[in-house]
Amino acid sequence: MIKRIDHVAVVVENMDDATAFWQDALGLKISHTENIADQESVIAFLPVGGSEVELVEPTTETSGIARYLDKRGPGIHHVCFEVDNLQATLDRLDAQGIELINREPTTGAGGTRVAFVHPRSANGVLVELYERGIATE
Ligand code: ZN
Repeated sequence: MIKRIDHVAVVVENMDDATAFWQDALGLKISHTENIADQESVIAFLPVGGSEVELVEPTTETSGIARYLDKRGPGIHHVCFEVDNLQATLDRLDAQGIELINREPTTGAGGTRVAFVHPRSANGVLVELYERGIATE
């Protein structure tokens, strides 16, 4: 079951320029930033309600995010939904013929389980599905 929108990720060319709108003008506050080495990008988290906006800036010319930026320019990169059982959700989507990038969850930060749905099956939107880690609770 889909529980909520966890975050919306926005690719930006320059974090300082981007925060001029998202933080200074709009009034959201950056809770923290993270350098994601294996994705060659920096992410800034701006909580809003129970969700977050994530600004993503590539740190190399060759990362996937940098190539995305080259091709499509800045904008929404993906929408992430939190689900309560990721594998069951993936199995259900797969059975409906939805094209999945990950048929099985990969493990992200803090034990979060993550998988992506291909934009071809989602009206051009890259959809991320999250299951929050429960092992430490
Ligand atoms: Zn995400």
